[in-house]
Parts: sequence; C-alpha cells; structure tokens
Amino acid sequence: MRMTKQKKLVFEIVNNSYEHLTAYEIYQKCKEQIPSISLGTVYRNLNLLCDLKKIKKLEMKDKTERFDNIKEKHSHFICEKCHKIIDLKDNITLTPDVSNHKVTDYEIKFYGICENCLKEENNG
Ligand SMILES: [Zn+2]
Ligand SMILES: [Zn+2]
Repeated sequence: MRMTKQKKLVFEIVNNSYEHLTAYEIYQKCKEQIPSISLGTVYRNLNLLCDLKKIKKLEMKDKTERFDNIKEKHSHFICEKCHKIIDLKDNITLTPDVSNHKVTDYEIKFYGICENCLKEENNG
C-alpha cells in the first residue's frame, strides 16, 4: 500500500489507539503532527483505510462512527449508561446457519451496563 504522509499518520493514530475515536478526535490528533491537515483529508483517508481493511469502522446505535484497530479480532461491550466502549477478547463460538455462504467477517456488539456504572448504581 502506497501511503501519503497524511494517510500514514491517520493509520498510525487508529492502529495505536484502543479508545475507539471519532473522526473528529482523530483529526485533532493529526493536527498535532500536521497542523495544515483538513478534516476532509482525515475523513477521506479513514474511509480509504476501511476499504483496504486496515482499520475498522464501528457504527454505533446513535449513528456516530468510531474507528478501531484490527490488530486482534475482538468484540465490543457498549455501556448504555456512560457509552463507554470496552474491548472483549473474542472467545465466542458461533454456529450460525450460513448454509452455502462464505463468511468473511462478523461483528458482535454487546449492550448493557458496565462494571463502573453498576457499582455507582449499587452505591447510590
Ligand atoms: Zn458505564
Ligand atoms: Zn475495539
């Protein structure tokens, strides 16, 4: 993959992050390195990197998009109270009926209340 300076930076930020950043947050981090970079350039490179399967886009219930590294296959737990996204190590075995289709990828999101919010609920 030929990488421009901008694309490389966008990729490195997402690939080294476990925070599930939004495009705008990635843009702000990019600006620290390349002050002249535009939000449009960041968006374009994010979509390009998704198409190339170098990073992954997570679409949230509230329609926001977040970007994630794909260094290790993992699922997500999303807290419905504080909206925190927690990575889960994937040791899930699925036996879906996919008949003659060939599965190339899957995505699982669990929704619930995170540990911290549960503690707060019990204390209050
Ligand atoms: Zn929470
Ligand atoms: Zn993740």
